[in-house]
Amino acid sequence: MGLFGMWKRERSAEYSADDKTNPAEMSPAQLQQKAEELLGRANASATTANHTTSPGLFFNAYEDTLQAMRQLVALEAYVPFSGRRPSEILAELEGTSKRDAAATSMVNRCLEQHRWSNRKQAETELAPYWAKLPKSARDRIAGLPDACADGTDPADFSPTAYDAANTRQIEAFRSAFDLTSVEGIRAITVDAVTPWVKSAPGVPSHPVEILSKQASAYAQDHIDLAVECLRKANELRPHSGMLYSEESYLRLVRYLYKAERFAEGDQEYQRIHAMFHGPHSQLPSPHALGVAALNRGLDSAKADGVDLVEVTWSSTCCEICGKYRGRIFSISGQDARFPKFPSDFCVDCGLNVFPFREGVSVPLYSNPQHWIEENARPLVDTRTPSEKDAYLQWQQRRRMEHEHQLNQLRRERQDHMDYAWIRSNLPDLLPNTFSGYRRMKTRNTANFQKLRAAALALGYRL
Ligand SMILES: [Zn+2]
Repeated sequence: MGLFGMWKRERSAEYSADDKTNPAEMSPAQLQQKAEELLGRANASATTANHTTSPGLFFNAYEDTLQAMRQLVALEAYVPFSGRRPSEILAELEGTSKRDAAATSMVNRCLEQHRWSNRKQAETELAPYWAKLPKSARDRIAGLPDACADGTDPADFSPTAYDAANTRQIEAFRSAFDLTSVEGIRAITVDAVTPWVKSAPGVPSHPVEILSKQASAYAQDHIDLAVECLRKANELRPHSGMLYSEESYLRLVRYLYKAERFAEGDQEYQRIHAMFHGPHSQLPSPHALGVAALNRGLDSAKADGVDLVEVTWSSTCCEICGKYRGRIFSISGQDARFPKFPSDFCVDCGLNVFPFREGVSVPLYSNPQHWIEENARPLVDTRTPSEKDAYLQWQQRRRMEHEHQLNQLRRERQDHMDYAWIRSNLPDLLPNTFSGYRRMKTRNTANFQKLRAAALALGYRL
């Protein structure tokens, strides 16, 4: 979607300038530029059509490819095209066999990624395009299971009904489990919650979310219950089928500090830190997710009997990605025209691969006329000096973000300790609320300076 959106923006900027120009009146340089723009458009929309799992986007992108190719055909008499002529490619794209193959691939991708859970859902979404779908694709849709008995049909999605379903589920959850006592919350087990995870109609009624929200409600007056809710939420997170950031786990640490249970908070912090950064980390790190995405890309190519893959592009990437971005590889290494897919492919800078069907896919990062020669070039880092710079800055920013998060947590802990100390040692000077104390400290008000002096007199540094 990102690619398509980006390209749409680019295109509208490009086309305001010289849309009305007649090829006969254009200079050779203008013609060349126009042809390159159109090729870029055709490539971008063809890539979208070849990769998308949105039927609407697929048919739009395919139509856009045709339009760009038609305009290229209009330039054919004026621009020297090497390789296959635009009119030839257009005829092929307009022919039913190319179109049907592309539509069938799109439907297959949708099925692989479980876009539709039942036949009715698929038919509803595909209804506007039904006539354009080849029989093989329709047959695959017919093979989907019938709508489930409860009749939930995403086509009838209504926000009111969604909210109501979530509210019902939350109420049912709260009567099934006791969230009003520490023992009650502790007694909730992963097994007991599993059916609730499966039947949640939306994120708000997910057990983890119910517990997190309950923690907020308890934060003011029942901090120990709030802590228990978050501890249980953290226990359930890995079984929730959703991904949670370190930040969401660390909320428990914050609440423990708030509850002035400092040692416990520190312990919990160590556990969470090890979970995310430790050598035995069980959580899917961004790296693990990258590996999984890469394997999905390679597997889907293999499953379709496609040996070639095209690597996507990133302008903020490391030196390894700089060598591989935008290139076409042979997975097996048997196709001598292309390098074998590298074993040191990097998944940390956001690059991925897509199956490349020779004769169907249009290469996005190689000249479609010379893509085979271009991909025989040696693999060298193609990053520009400013791209290298951007990468270094990005890395630095990432490192600093983590440190910043850590510092904030440390400060929060210290402030809670100080607030507790004031309560015990200078109760008359205690600000009404913790947040009031933090505000006066940040602003370094006259009252805070008074408080600090009084603490110092007792040998404590605020
Ligand atoms: Zn990289």
